[in-house]
Amino acid sequence: MEHHEVIVIGAGVAGLYQIKRLADLGIDAVVLEAGSDLGGTWQWNRYPGARFDSESYTYGYSFSRDLLDEWHWKERFSGQPENLRYLNHVADKFGLRQDMQFNCRVEAAHYDEAQNLWRLRIDDGRIDDGRTGEGRALTCRFLILTLGLLSIPTLPRLEGMERFKGQSFHTFHWPHEPVEMAGKRVAVIGTGATGIQVIGEIADKVGELTVFQRRPNWSAPLNNGPISDAEMADIRRRYDEIFATCARTPGGFEHEPDRRGFHEVTRAERLALWDKLYDEPGFGIWLRNFKEIFTDETANAEFSEYIAERIRRRVKDPKVAEKLIPRDHGFGVQRVPLETRYFEAYNRPNVHLVDISETPIVSVTERGLRTSERDYDFDIIVYATGFDAITGAFDRIDIQGVSGEKLSDKWRTTISTFLGMMIHGFPNMLMPAGPQSGSASTNYPRGIETGVNWCTDLLEYMAAHGYARCEATETAEKRWTDHVTNMYAMMLMRKAKSWFTGYNSNVAGHEQGTVRYLVYNGGAPKYVNTINAVAAKGYEGVVLSADRGTAPAGSQPTAVA
Ligand code: NAP
Repeated sequence: MEHHEVIVIGAGVAGLYQIKRLADLGIDAVVLEAGSDLGGTWQWNRYPGARFDSESYTYGYSFSRDLLDEWHWKERFSGQPENLRYLNHVADKFGLRQDMQFNCRVEAAHYDEAQNLWRLRIDDGRIDDGRTGEGRALTCRFLILTLGLLSIPTLPRLEGMERFKGQSFHTFHWPHEPVEMAGKRVAVIGTGATGIQVIGEIADKVGELTVFQRRPNWSAPLNNGPISDAEMADIRRRYDEIFATCARTPGGFEHEPDRRGFHEVTRAERLALWDKLYDEPGFGIWLRNFKEIFTDETANAEFSEYIAERIRRRVKDPKVAEKLIPRDHGFGVQRVPLETRYFEAYNRPNVHLVDISETPIVSVTERGLRTSERDYDFDIIVYATGFDAITGAFDRIDIQGVSGEKLSDKWRTTISTFLGMMIHGFPNMLMPAGPQSGSASTNYPRGIETGVNWCTDLLEYMAAHGYARCEATETAEKRWTDHVTNMYAMMLMRKAKSWFTGYNSNVAGHEQGTVRYLVYNGGAPKYVNTINAVAAKGYEGVVLSADRGTAPAGSQPTAVA
């Protein structure tokens, strides 16, 4: 039976850094990845327009000076092909591929209390060479889950979806081979960050584009541009300063919130700030703004109206403009998509907006889509319909902890974690970027590096002190979960229909109504201070023991049932 000290599940941005840290420490570890190659989100999401909306140089890893010095980001917000090249470069440079196994979908992970081991069953029956497998079993002492927050795409549950004779796919599964779009009639369903990127990118490349919008999203310009050699040289000189700024800002970006009180400045001063931010690149419009935008209904309403006016100025047909302005939530209480030529797309004669809150899609036909009003014919249907976010990937593995407790049962009604990285009842299982960790609400790689470092330091600490088992206490978990939950009370986002609150109309039980407290809203500095304080106190809230189990690792443990 294959045994490793550590098994990491998922070879995305987090899994890559995690295996690098483990390899550096000489720990026997392997990454299991369901996909056919590394890269996670940047491996899967190949749709046109897919790109960072974090500044490229704040998204890249910070752990290697050498890497920072040699990589030239070509665009301020780099596109998917380049991002995947970067992750491959990192894997090759540090020799990380040798510790990765692809096409390995982990079906089950059961904690064996007697032996203090995790027993995994993986399905590797779809190996590229065509060999069919019955699944295989592995064991490990420590299980590290880097499954991705947005790695389980969800489709609408529409009658007749299998009938459609043209091409159709979720954006996450955009084909690897080029999709011929010129002259084609294309439907895009969904106007989240993904749909907004796709629509802006393909509007002038397709024959006819019809957008099916259920709810509009607040969106602002990305303002992308190239990074010249001289600019890149300057960025390299400033890397320490850039990462230091990311570390002290709530969002983990270079964008620092405006420290003035919204109500303490005049309206003219507010407008001056907003005019400036609207023309700046990236998330400044969201994160350099007044902090009351997130918490104060009046402030939020005034700013939302400012953005609504911007939409009206950009969209020529006033009826279309009004349909693109959200009414059910204010700016920034859902994840803000950043756009490129998105609103201008609707000024094109070949682009049509269908408001499916008025005329819902009732079925998919052989030729296209049927709404309550009429039939539409298409060559291609693109589902930009989002993800079973944050917990979806956990739910798809049969994870069982002490006494066979299923994680999916524990998280059925409400989720709870300790620091977003450990779970009571699931010893030796770590989640560097788990639910309720600092990652989802911050610049993702910055949060990832924090989480991976904390988890790896814990393993080092355990090895140094002769510990073999770690488990968060129930009390510590409850305290953390209450803290995460209480912070939602201050935020306007608690009312939004968004993946931040666990909403997904396509997943049973995740419709609006039950808020799931998935995201830590306290900001990166507070999160880092908290987790560092826990470590400094010898991992307060974590029970550490020397229990190595009754059998030594690798002594023919039995397979997962
Ligand atoms: P999303 O924000 O959840 O948006 C899904 C869209 O599909 C929404 O407009 C939703 O409408 C619509 N939809 C879902 N089910 C539908 C149904 N059954 N019928 C009709 N419409 C339906 O998903 P996403 O756009 O993929 O973005 C998810 C997250 O991924 C983002 O928030 C962001 O964090 C990340 N992302 C990042 C980037 C980047 O630039 N780095 C790019 C893309 C995505 P409702 O609003 O009415 O539910």
